[in-house]
Amino acid sequence: MFKLIQKTTTTSNNQIRNRIINTTTLLNNSNNINNAIISKRNYLHIGKLEQRGVKPKVVILGCGWSSYAFLKKLNGDNFDITLVSPRNHFLFTPLLASTSVGTLEFRSVAQPVRNAKDDFNYLQAECTKINHEEKSIECLSTLHHQTPFKIDYDYLIIGVGARNNTFNIPGVEKNSFFLKELHQARSIRQRIIYCFEMASLPDVTPAERRKLLSFVVCGGGPTGVEFCGELNDLVSEDISRWFPNVPMNEVKITLLEASKSILSAFDQNLVKKALENFKASGVDVRTNSPVKEVHEEKVILSDGTEIPYGMLVWSTGVAPQKFINSLPFPKDKQGRLQVDQYLCLAGQKNIFAFGDCSNVNETNLPATAQVAQQQGIYLAEQFNNSIKELESKPFVYHYFGILAYIGRKSSLFQTNAVQASGLWAWIAWRSAYLTRLGSLRSFNMELNKKQLYMLTRISKD
Ligand SMILES: Cc1cc2nc3c(=O)[nH]c(=O)nc-3n(C[C@H](O)[C@H](O)[C@H](O)COP(=O)(O)OP(=O)(O)OC[C@H]3O[C@@H](n4cnc5c(N)ncnc54)[C@H](O)[C@@H]3O)c2cc1C
Repeated sequence: MFKLIQKTTTTSNNQIRNRIINTTTLLNNSNNINNAIISKRNYLHIGKLEQRGVKPKVVILGCGWSSYAFLKKLNGDNFDITLVSPRNHFLFTPLLASTSVGTLEFRSVAQPVRNAKDDFNYLQAECTKINHEEKSIECLSTLHHQTPFKIDYDYLIIGVGARNNTFNIPGVEKNSFFLKELHQARSIRQRIIYCFEMASLPDVTPAERRKLLSFVVCGGGPTGVEFCGELNDLVSEDISRWFPNVPMNEVKITLLEASKSILSAFDQNLVKKALENFKASGVDVRTNSPVKEVHEEKVILSDGTEIPYGMLVWSTGVAPQKFINSLPFPKDKQGRLQVDQYLCLAGQKNIFAFGDCSNVNETNLPATAQVAQQQGIYLAEQFNNSIKELESKPFVYHYFGILAYIGRKSSLFQTNAVQASGLWAWIAWRSAYLTRLGSLRSFNMELNKKQLYMLTRISKD
């Protein structure tokens, strides 16, 4: 749509608007024919079940940073909106590591999608196929995985994110914990407690206890680093009190990084601060340590070193979703969908993609919430503007800086103009995220006294 507006300079905005509406009307009129064909194939058909108006039908895939921002901003008075996502909530990922160790409650970082606004339909399902020629998608509910159904669209918006990258290393998928979704953070929290409960039993052997108390984190990016920092805080501030009979000197946190440095997006001075902080807190950071295999109770490095573990958290970046791999559209070298500066899919006029599953004009923007959210807001504005007959503008990314928590009330904070670390950066980190979280209405301040203290720990210093 936007490409059309941008490139057809001789076409008046009115003509374009009419074209959008005509397309929709045609599509609606042809529904009966479509339905007959589709029903023979044993599909439920959403278009058949609904009394559709003439508003252009926008179907959004995903409920993450990009899609959620798009949904919130898109004007439902002008569009017939349907969101399809296996996850029925938006997740505030920057604070997910805090939930995995109990600093924050799980529901504090999740916003039910149905609360986002009133004027849209939500279906808890995953999209399995795009029939771009007939402008429909095929879906399967993730609640029962039984009857596939189809949905027509005039505009399709793909924001399905990415999955954890395991690099096909044997044993990773089966034996590791991942930190991407709420249920995964919950599993991590349960496993930590399990390891300490087991380690405190009288019948556990010293060797078994040392294994249980060994926590290995693979991946020295911001997520791996933040999880190490949070875990170390939990052990030193709470676990040591809760499990007095567990020898704390046997607790070991190891951070493994395949390349020569952790936190590659940060300046070397800040990386140095992080390494010093980890050294002081006893976290064993091992760079140049690629993992060769992961077994049920030990990880084996490329140089043959074996590290027994009680819990292994895998956080080594992202790879495309299998659904994205299956799509017949042009992709970049990393398998992400190629989109132009209007976020329109290469070769398509009415399919758009944003967030971690896409690459804008080969610019390789980082896979961050910051990028995804800006893209979501941008695209919704373009859709809203098209109704107001305003011309669309290309997407421009604004870098606001990066933050990472490194434990012991210390963070790293870097923008183009400023670099900071330590307590003040930590205050900035907490304030920035808590303000954002609060503004998302999701911050049900269900915090007990201890959690409140952990959020505002500076007051105790
Ligand atoms: C622990 C953690 C901490 C992070 N911290 C930060 C940070 O501090 N700052 C920052 O900028 N970034 C951070 N990130 C990265 C950031 O979360 C991602 O870049 C961002 O979530 C990408 O947004 P997205 O919309 O592309 O996808 P996501 O937010 O991943 O959402 C994808 C959505 O698509 C849905 N979906 C998947 N498959 C399908 C399908 N077939 N059909 C329909 N829906 C589907 C999913 O259920 C989900 O709802 C962090 C990530 C993690 C995991």
